[in-house]
Amino acid sequence: MDKKMYNFSAGPGALPDTVLQEAHRQLLNYQSSGLSILEMGHRTQLFEDIYAEARDLIRKLLKIPDTFEVLLLQGGATLQFSMAPLNLAIEGKVVDVLHTGYWSGKAIADIKRVSPVRIVASSEDSGHCLIPKVSQGNFNPDAPYVYLTSNNTIYGTQWHIFPDTGDVPIVADMTSDIFSKPLDFSKFGVIFASAQKNVGIAGVTLVIVRRDLAERCPEHVGTLLQYRTHLNRNTVYNTAPVFGIYVMLLVLRWMKEQGGVEGLMKINAEKAKRVYAAVDRHEIYLSRVNPEDRSEMNVCFFIQGGLEQRFIEEALKRKIIGITGHSEAGGIRVSLYNPVTLEAVDALEELMEDFALCYSSFVVQ
Ligand SMILES: *Cc1c(COP(=O)(O)O)cnc(C)c1O
Repeated sequence: MDKKMYNFSAGPGALPDTVLQEAHRQLLNYQSSGLSILEMGHRTQLFEDIYAEARDLIRKLLKIPDTFEVLLLQGGATLQFSMAPLNLAIEGKVVDVLHTGYWSGKAIADIKRVSPVRIVASSEDSGHCLIPKVSQGNFNPDAPYVYLTSNNTIYGTQWHIFPDTGDVPIVADMTSDIFSKPLDFSKFGVIFASAQKNVGIAGVTLVIVRRDLAERCPEHVGTLLQYRTHLNRNTVYNTAPVFGIYVMLLVLRWMKEQGGVEGLMKINAEKAKRVYAAVDRHEIYLSRVNPEDRSEMNVCFFIQGGLEQRFIEEALKRKIIGITGHSEAGGIRVSLYNPVTLEAVDALEELMEDFALCYSSFVVQ
């Protein structure tokens, strides 16, 4: 298969070539069943096998303790902005939140519909260019949970060390960095992530929830919105996105072949190191992110003289796409999710070198 483009999109993001090839092979006649995966029922044995293997691989790759349940839901991370508060709020108690960008802002608006909220720390004054410093003393030990976004997809910052919140569980939106590094589950109550950035295509949302917390939900919350509904089942509660879960399984198998999360972490570190080195090497590129808080998943930078559009056009000539910054942040954003290859990073590095050589003399005095 000729892969047409080097895809650095922030989401939906790139998929491994082997995953696309396998999905293509199985599309018309899944495992010689005479059925397309697209028309396959969610109560068939074929799908139940896909579902079981996907959940098992998620558990193994992330080393998830038995005290947590793995759910594959719909509605994206955005539905979890509502679903987590509906399930985990405690009457009269204030939720502690860490506000580090666009997505935590969206989540806070939805938490507020259910509970009072206290912003423990915010990066807003810095234009979301850093991760605030917090320690256990900053958190209310009586809070039902602490909310944070592990990787700020739009501004390019990342929590490299999760805060110590004492006994209060963290609820984390990990949409843009799940499976990029190992996790210490003792800190978390709920971790959720849309699939389309690091682990598949849109339509599936991974939710990893501590069983005891899933039992907290008040009865007035709708059935599908209760985590409890999805606990202790080997089958999906309602019609599942069969194809989305199948593609997720293919990505999970691919991750295992890459040496699992530990193997991917090494490759991701290498990719990010190389792109940031190119940014730092040339004055024409400007990174506004506090160096120690730089994201390994989304590298955001600006180009002197407002040459971003020129850079994007030059990139397209080299089949590099998906690098336009989010409209909230502007600039250039390069997303280096798990499936983005070192070969793609080579092409980007070459572009950054050539562009700097060509334009530096015009804009850097
Ligand atoms: C992309 C993104 C979302 C939104 O995901 P949807 O699938 O559109 O709901 C939420 N949080 C983060 C951190 C993201 O990167």
